[in-house]
Amino acid sequence: MFFWKRFGSRCRLKIQDTDLITFEEALASSRSQMVERFSKHVSPIEARIFKLLNTDKRFVKAEGIRIFDEQGEEYLDFTAGYGALCLGHNPAEVLAAVQQAANLPTILSFYVGIHPLVGALAENLHRILPGHPDISCFGSGGAEAVEIALKTARASTGKKRLVYADWSYHGQSIGSLSVSGHTYKHYFEPLLPNCEHVPFGDLQALELKLRAGDVAAFIVEPVQAEAGCIIPPKGYLPGAQELCNKYDALLILDEIQTGFGRTGRMFAAEHESVKPDIIVVSKALSAGVMPISAAVTNSEIWKKAYDQENSWESLISTFRGNPKACAAALKAMEILVRDRLVDHAKKMGEYTLQRLEELKAHNENIKAVRGIGLLLAIELPSGKGGALALSSWVISRMWNKHHIILGNYDHRQDILRLQPPLNVQKEDIDRVIEALDEACSKSGVSLALGAGVTALRRSLRPPK
Ligand code: PLP
Repeated sequence: MFFWKRFGSRCRLKIQDTDLITFEEALASSRSQMVERFSKHVSPIEARIFKLLNTDKRFVKAEGIRIFDEQGEEYLDFTAGYGALCLGHNPAEVLAAVQQAANLPTILSFYVGIHPLVGALAENLHRILPGHPDISCFGSGGAEAVEIALKTARASTGKKRLVYADWSYHGQSIGSLSVSGHTYKHYFEPLLPNCEHVPFGDLQALELKLRAGDVAAFIVEPVQAEAGCIIPPKGYLPGAQELCNKYDALLILDEIQTGFGRTGRMFAAEHESVKPDIIVVSKALSAGVMPISAAVTNSEIWKKAYDQENSWESLISTFRGNPKACAAALKAMEILVRDRLVDHAKKMGEYTLQRLEELKAHNENIKAVRGIGLLLAIELPSGKGGALALSSWVISRMWNKHHIILGNYDHRQDILRLQPPLNVQKEDIDRVIEALDEACSKSGVSLALGAGVTALRRSLRPPK
């Protein structure tokens, strides 16, 4: 039974004998409360890492590329929410669109709510995506869209085998994990049967897998982001498309991270005019403001998969195509096109890469730099203390000394990830390059290889 009880000047929310934390109390949590609750109730290992790196800050405000801690200190965020925040934090126009959609019914049964925004968003995706696929199957996160794509491929081709690339990242659900190169996937076995991997960039290996003609789909990222920003050899994607056509398999292109301008084209498929059978998008689709994703395909494939008995019902999920998420996506896409942010991202990406190459030329602690558009990577040497410890040290230094938020790539935690919002400005890039020069300097690196490394490595180890 719920009841409100006066407690000093505050209202306590009681359920049976337990106090619940109210929204206002949660918002006003101190840094130590925030860390303790996260550690106890969300992720003890991450809490330990954040604490050790001193990145467990309590941020209170975020606007564009800038975020502010409780002391009012400003930080530059060069991670853009794993690439989702293409317009930076809290873009006012997108938030206003979500607010405007707030009067529409939030979720409508029966099966799916038809409202003005969902069809319009699907039509815009049809207009903007390579090859102009005309049917969007909506979900809430990237992995969900990947699941839809895999199901669509199997149901429409009637084939079972799925082929994926080594080191790929398509999500963390059982299906998406089965077609990803996560090193920890064996902990969750048994995964889906009939999923087979090939080296990324290797067309011969792909043809060997496809040759029997019983493969439903080859799923691939145009650039492998989480593998450390790996760009395939020229001709790889068109070659993969040709092979898929030849052996009647579908090409699923995962543009979840690369889509909507990240690589300097609206979609990475456009670099080599690839027109996949199914494209999956999420993240920047709504500028990261609302969770939304889509697997987009053509009506011929869709009909084969879902125009039979009641198989279309498998596309139902509670939050799919909800108006607030569609509002965010429609407005985000509008801003991206109106403000020519894709061209801007291309220019800023080229500028950053050039500055990174200069940095590498005079900084012996930088092993390699690479990137496409605003998806960029810095590889550090492994050294005595290990590349992971070194990259963690550089990240901590960037946060704490320079107030610049950097991260690493999921499959390659030794590689620094630079992925600012698409509207990043030159001055911000210059500030990051100068800071990196210091953080990767000889004295900095020898510090990292000292006492701190042992503690860091111990902390990164899971508890016994
Ligand atoms: N595919 C790619 C290429 C990704 O980068 C990601 C996430 O980073 C996913 C799929 C999974 O998306 P989500 O984390 O929203 O499930």
